[in-house]
Amino acid sequence: MTKKEKIDLRKLTPGSLEAREKGCKCPVLDNKDMPDDLKIVSSLCKIHWKEFFPKEKKKD
Ligand SMILES: [Zn+2]
Repeated sequence: MTKKEKIDLRKLTPGSLEAREKGCKCPVLDNKDMPDDLKIVSSLCKIHWKEFFPKEKKKD
């Protein structure tokens, strides 16, 4: 196992510059004034969306 320095993308703040550099699609302006626990998550964002709506149950 290799232990590269892996950032937990989901911990990045939605809409933050750092997150967006990693591919976050969450709205920037809408989140600017929001507290951390009330960030708006876009369904287009592969980083944050899944965590907030974990309805994808892959149990076959
Ligand atoms: Zn995001």
